Amino acid sequence: MDKLTAYLVKKGVLKDERVIRAFAENPRYKFVPERYKDYWYVDEPLPTFEGQTISQPSTVAFMTQALEVGEGMKVLEVGAGSGWQAAILSSLVGKGGKVYTIERIPKLYEFAKRNLRDKKNVEVILGDGSKGLPRKAPFDRIIVTAAAKEVPKALIEQLDEEGILLVPVGVGVQRMVKVWKKGRREYLGEFVFVPLVEE
Ligand code: SAH
Repeated sequence: MDKLTAYLVKKGVLKDERVIRAFAENPRYKFVPERYKDYWYVDEPLPTFEGQTISQPSTVAFMTQALEVGEGMKVLEVGAGSGWQAAILSSLVGKGGKVYTIERIPKLYEFAKRNLRDKKNVEVILGDGSKGLPRKAPFDRIIVTAAAKEVPKALIEQLDEEGILLVPVGVGVQRMVKVWKKGRREYLGEFVFVPLVEE
């Protein structure tokens, strides 16, 4: 197990056995840009390109566990970035599952695609994900890794009946909102993300 995964377990952020395994299968050094390679294990966000970031490891751990991803699920991620979160989701859904991840910035789309080239169950899509991916709906799980101004209704519509959406909402500081298709909502603490660009 790499030292970042070990740290997250020791810190108590990573608890779920399946999620711990998914982290160990996808060490962060494979997703950090060359010029920040020496800092891959630090529990902080790091710059990728064009003012964007690879999220803070404890946030990725927290969100991944909150999303309750099972084997065989179809998952949508909005904000591919480095592809790290998508790689972890790929391990969790397994061979029978599928992960779609959308990125609006071409340079990051290319970066994510390269980093995810060996993941057969992941499709990286270039475009605006703020309205989801209707042509592939419904999804078992949707995760937004950029800050939305409010919970995007289009994403709730694209959930399966048993589906769950996880999205950080707010300007400046965000509250993590867990939304069940059936109506329940939970607020899971405060985080800071780069903005979701809503076109
Ligand atoms: N999940 C990423 C980190 C994401 S940072 C990782 O594991 O590395 C947020 C990303 O969302 C940025 O790369 C940003 O360009 C992208 N983004 C912002 N608004 C978007 C939109 N409307 N559609 C798709 N991607 C978007």
